[in-house]
Amino acid sequence: MTSLWQDTSAEHVTCAPLAGAQTADLAIVGGGFTGLSAALEAAGAGLRVILLEAETIGHGGSGRNVGLVNAGLWLPPDAVEKSMGTEPGARLNAALAGAPDLVFDLIQRHGIACEARRAGTIHLAHAPSGLSDLSERARQQKARGAPVQLLDADEVARRTGTRHFHGGLFDPRAGTIQPLAYVRGLARTAQGSGAILHENSTLERILHVEGQWRLHSADGQVTAPKLLIATNAYHRFVPGFHVPRTAVVGYFQMATPPLPDDVAAAILPEGEGCWDTGTVMTSLRRDRAGRIILGALGIPEGVGARLHHDWARRKLLKIFPDLGSQDWTHHWWGRIAMTSDHIPKVIDLGRDAWAVMGYSGRGIGPGTLMGRAVAQSMITGNTTAMPVPVSDARYRDAMPGMRSLVVETGARALHWIGARRG
Ligand SMILES: Cc1cc2nc3c(=O)[nH]c(=O)nc-3n(C[C@H](O)[C@H](O)[C@H](O)COP(=O)(O)OP(=O)(O)OC[C@H]3O[C@@H](n4cnc5c(N)ncnc54)[C@H](O)[C@@H]3O)c2cc1C
Repeated sequence: MTSLWQDTSAEHVTCAPLAGAQTADLAIVGGGFTGLSAALEAAGAGLRVILLEAETIGHGGSGRNVGLVNAGLWLPPDAVEKSMGTEPGARLNAALAGAPDLVFDLIQRHGIACEARRAGTIHLAHAPSGLSDLSERARQQKARGAPVQLLDADEVARRTGTRHFHGGLFDPRAGTIQPLAYVRGLARTAQGSGAILHENSTLERILHVEGQWRLHSADGQVTAPKLLIATNAYHRFVPGFHVPRTAVVGYFQMATPPLPDDVAAAILPEGEGCWDTGTVMTSLRRDRAGRIILGALGIPEGVGARLHHDWARRKLLKIFPDLGSQDWTHHWWGRIAMTSDHIPKVIDLGRDAWAVMGYSGRGIGPGTLMGRAVAQSMITGNTTAMPVPVSDARYRDAMPGMRSLVVETGARALHWIGARRG
């Protein structure tokens, strides 16, 4: 079965594979939010930009995600400041609070047809303990001037059409998009600004010769003094070129057929995007055609396929019992790059090469913002304006393989239990 986003994207972009020898001021590897936001910014500033994408634009997390455009990270803002230090943490919190403005402004300015809807998001309390977590998050956000609103169970039931949740935290700064259409729209806009994008062009080999990076794909070569690696959880190994890695966790989604208008009218009638406080998070939203899209942590492959799918069928029934058992028309999944502290990283790989990664499940706003910020730093040479302090090439995330395994095992265990309870 295919991704809903592949089937419904109103934006299309085509880019020829790299061929022959080319030169650029900036070479970018990775055609997701980060790489394309950087390409748009750098090309707009007059740089000759060449971007290589191994598959097609949006092949990675950018074309597979839930489409929740949030203000901030998964971590509450106090935890960000505790982890990074007060000043850098406050700077990142402030920058990310404005990330939805950046995304929705770009969409509007460039006419990106991506089902953009700025109706807010609701972080739903999956249990009474979730509600106390949300109250604390509300307190921290309000202390920073965020216009968030704690909702009681009745208000959540009115807005979502289900009594399954114990309350929620509404954030009007946020919204939803069709993520693949957004990333394709960024690509179209970057092309319009002069960036040269190549799909089906895997970076296979890289050398640094006389102050220049030389990138090789199967049929071509790009030489550029500056390099941005924006391959995140989808990084493909390039021999002899080390890019730090993070834990990678799976997240899957399933979509129902469009619901009849009278049924759909009671479910998220105002169009908020939702996710919950569960340890193995669940997301819930609708698309423009009135489908319900349910998502959760997990890799639906091998034994995980049956287990996670079973859980999803029962979960939808538990949330919306009146819907009856629904057939899914689409299911798909993607890989999330999760750092051990859940803070994204900008890594100086040396010799004017940079890598950006590890949005830990929050990449639409942060990826757009950090791609732009890295491009600006590469243009001006000033790295102090970056939203996170720069890590050096020795950066190592703690036990990425083990952490990936622990998350998937936990998701399977909880979904196995969840699918068997009432
Ligand atoms: C299922 C899922 C749900 C999510 N939901 C949300 C959400 O609701 N809200 C939110 O804010 N974030 C969400 N995220 C996170 C967000 O999607 C990611 O953080 C974001 O897409 C990362 O963008 P990126 O540009 O850094 O990397 P990617 O979009 O992953 O792009 C990397 C690209 O690099 C290419 N590549 C890799 N190696 C090479 C090579 N050697 N040569 C050439 N190209 C190469 C890959 O093919 C890929 O297209 C979700 C992620 C997933 C997977």
